[in-house]
Amino acid sequence: LNPVLAIVGRPNVGKSTLVNRILGRREAVVEDTPGVTRDRVSYPAQWTGRNFTLVDTGGWEQDAKGINARVADQAEIAVDMADAVLLVVDATVGATATDEAVVRMLRRKKKPVILVANKVDDIQNEADASVLWGLGFGQPWPVSALHGRGTGDMLDKVIEIL
Ligand code: GDP
Ligand code: MG
Repeated sequence: LNPVLAIVGRPNVGKSTLVNRILGRREAVVEDTPGVTRDRVSYPAQWTGRNFTLVDTGGWEQDAKGINARVADQAEIAVDMADAVLLVVDATVGATATDEAVVRMLRRKKKPVILVANKVDDIQNEADASVLWGLGFGQPWPVSALHGRGTGDMLDKVIEIL
């Protein structure tokens, strides 16, 4: 059975774009507008000859519990299925209250987390990524899921821990 890598984070940070980057094809639906309800979706993936299962998580409508709780709850289901987690944050925005809700949930889990600072499209944005050291998951990996910048180094790290 292949190891499972869950991709979690609040809506619109670029999770599905990162899934497509890892798969090398456009399979996960990328939304310009956050908040489309969708289930978790699994994809067979590989990197440097290692096979793994990638689990993308959707965006969630705000309900009575509020968007933060909804995102954290759905992320928790994906994390419980996973051997390792990619926590995706939008480095151009920084950590929001919704990101913090996911972070609190992840701290309770005994799963390895790789912190992905997405939307670092060029070198000038790398300072945005280093602020995310403060989330307490070690080194933030600056990537641009859209352009592929930094994703190879990040995946090398993923394969090390998976
Ligand atoms: P998700 O809700 O976390 O799955 O986010 P999506 O993958 O649907 O992306 C949300 C929006 O962010 C889309 O408009 C993407 O094109 C954009 N996006 C994703 N990754 C990047 C990136 O690396 N750089 C930039 N500039 N935009 C990105
Ligand atoms: Mg998505």
